[in-house]
Amino acid sequence: MSSALGDRGPIVVVGAGPAGALMALYLARQGHEVTVYEARPDIRRVEISAGRSINLALATRGIVPLVDVGVIERVDAITIPMRGRMIHADDSTEPVLQPYGTRAHEVIHSVSRRDLNAILLDAAEATGRVGIEFASPVRSIDLGVGTLAVDGPGNSARTVPFGTVFAADGAGSELRKAIVAANGGAAETDWLDHGYKELQIPPASDGGFRLDPNALHIWPRREFMLIALANPGGDFTATLFAPNTGEGSFASLSDSEAVSRFFEQQFADFAALVPDLVEQFFDNPAGRLATMRCRGWSAGDRAVLLGDAAHAIVPFHGQGMNLAMESARALDRHLRSRPDDVAAAFAAFEAERKPNADAIADMALDNYVEMRASVVDPGYLIRRELALELQRRHADRLSPRYNMVMFSTMPYAEAAARAARQSEILGELTSGRASPAEVDMDRAAELVAGLDPLPELDPLARPDALSV
Ligand SMILES: Cc1cc2nc3c(=O)[nH]c(=O)nc-3n(C[C@H](O)[C@H](O)[C@H](O)COP(=O)(O)OP(=O)(O)OC[C@H]3O[C@@H](n4cnc5c(N)ncnc54)[C@H](O)[C@@H]3O)c2cc1C
Repeated sequence: MSSALGDRGPIVVVGAGPAGALMALYLARQGHEVTVYEARPDIRRVEISAGRSINLALATRGIVPLVDVGVIERVDAITIPMRGRMIHADDSTEPVLQPYGTRAHEVIHSVSRRDLNAILLDAAEATGRVGIEFASPVRSIDLGVGTLAVDGPGNSARTVPFGTVFAADGAGSELRKAIVAANGGAAETDWLDHGYKELQIPPASDGGFRLDPNALHIWPRREFMLIALANPGGDFTATLFAPNTGEGSFASLSDSEAVSRFFEQQFADFAALVPDLVEQFFDNPAGRLATMRCRGWSAGDRAVLLGDAAHAIVPFHGQGMNLAMESARALDRHLRSRPDDVAAAFAAFEAERKPNADAIADMALDNYVEMRASVVDPGYLIRRELALELQRRHADRLSPRYNMVMFSTMPYAEAAARAARQSEILGELTSGRASPAEVDMDRAAELVAGLDPLPELDPLARPDALSV
């Protein structure tokens, strides 16, 4: 028998990260009362430990839901636009900017995950319909009876009843196993053999930035790379991505001397900006990276997976949170279009989002190679330059893959399919050419005319949503 949301009892969101906080806000806007259980203390009131300060690239798919729920002005105050990749090829040459696009709004925005999350938590609470219980990890779910086992705050343990649960408890979701098992689904985690470590570049002595803040800095070194994104306080959060074992790996950087030597040899200009580099390296934790694909995102009308809990991807396309927020908006839409049948709304949500989550998972893996190696490869540079030139000439039909992912709202699976076709065209046009100037532009126009017109942007994808 079909049911409407709330019919079966209390509505609960588990996890108050970007996906859970945004979903709670959407549900409150539908008129529901929502309780959120979050394992950690309130991020608005506690210091974040060193090495866990992550700043993220926010792009169109994440911006649209923020416009939708009315918080974009607050977000604008905490973001820094990045116009392209600043490539630090080696120490003998000046860094070079590779612009992301040809239009003013084709920029991504550096934002602190904590500050963005805080805005969403404030907005959810301001509805008067969302109660958030922090320091309250959910230990297990009983889908048959409809109860959650919740620890804390403190040493207390409780059993709380629910009607429907939105499980937004992140990549390592505690609830996923039970939800997926309930409908014969499956989850699979592919660990990457590369990990990451954050390092902080402090502000200059006058409080200013030590590097251009309006670019995403990359030190590509083929097998590993360093990146840095600016924060409004004048500092940068840098992240080293490297193999876990072998040469140039985290395992090989086991003592101070090895770390100093590695940074001096590979990233001397960066090392000069970070006086306590070695201390930070050993103080900050190393993180692991994985792609988690799963099917069976919901258990009837009782529970649904959301955000990284449903689709965790590696961070190399800067899309995990953007994807999670786009998914929350899609789930809101499905629930509103099937108000009397929550189970059907959840099933339709998965049918729409799963192929797209799988597509961006693959593109994110591909983009690691692009960032750490291709960006300094002459063949790649010609194709990228030509793609931007063709976008300038035929903006209604062609857009580089990066731009379709970051600056459009077309389904990720469509972006991947279009990118594959475009790649063939770019390959044909650049074959044997040393620069885009040598490309036969009449043939290019002919090939591009064979592509379907690009879909319209979502009306909320306003180019002026954030300052550029
Ligand atoms: C190094 C790195 C760089 C990244 N860069 C980008 C980027 O540039 N752009 C981008 O879009 N994405 C990026 N991401 C991905 C992004 O961080 C995630 O996709 C995003 O945080 C997912 O949001 P979420 O709410 O689904 O999960 P999370 O942010 O993981 O939130 C889950 C929440 O649930 C809570 N929780 C967990 N278990 C329980 C439990 N049992 N009970 C109650 N609460 C629980 C957690 O404490 C947490 O608050 C990056 C990730 C990494 C690791």
